[in-house]
Amino acid sequence: MTDMLVVVPHPDDETLSAGGTIRQATRRGDSVTVVTLTRGEEGRTLGICPQEQLAEMRSQEFTAAMSLLGVADALLFPYPDGGLASRSDEAAEDLRVLVERTRPAVVATFPANGMNGHPDHVASHHITRAALRLSGWAPRTVLTFADPHAFRDGPRPGYLVPQEVNRLRVPPNRTHGVADVAEDKLRALGCYDTQARSVLKFLRLHPQSLQTETFHASAWPPGT
Ligand SMILES: [Zn+2]
Repeated sequence: MTDMLVVVPHPDDETLSAGGTIRQATRRGDSVTVVTLTRGEEGRTLGICPQEQLAEMRSQEFTAAMSLLGVADALLFPYPDGGLASRSDEAAEDLRVLVERTRPAVVATFPANGMNGHPDHVASHHITRAALRLSGWAPRTVLTFADPHAFRDGPRPGYLVPQEVNRLRVPPNRTHGVADVAEDKLRALGCYDTQARSVLKFLRLHPQSLQTETFHASAWPPGT
């Protein structure tokens, strides 16, 4: 049995939203599995590599970051970045197999609003729930990343509109103080060369995330 399974669509999402929580778990000796459902091939390259090499670059960045956070079990699934929802059924089936292998006590993923309305973030929420239903495995707790503040970024094409992001927002009911591992979280973020702009934007919007990581914890199955 794994103590925690973290499911995100893009390499970097896991460290931005839960890097401190992951590091505290591995420091305690807990086993943590982290899976990204895509390899992030549609992201910015910042001129660091050709676009066709970005999937490989981001895979290497992810592997390095997970190693710094002490994660022994880190996987990337090859579903399409930007089009994850179009392959939801297959992704849920692959994730079901992973859930059955790891039998996680805690599962952490995006909330229904994707935090920022990104379609892959939203899809990863639904894929994770589908995989849990398919597996029949009941984790003790499902954690969704939760923003203590209302969403205040502007609209972006293909994303949920900001009003919808706020309508679906579920406020945090669990706060992890992560200041003791902030250095490790920053070091892991520093692995993401190609995602430097996204990392900086996240830190600009969520500067508190170096001190505290916030989640909404709920029981599984829902309503129990
Ligand atoms: Zn993302």
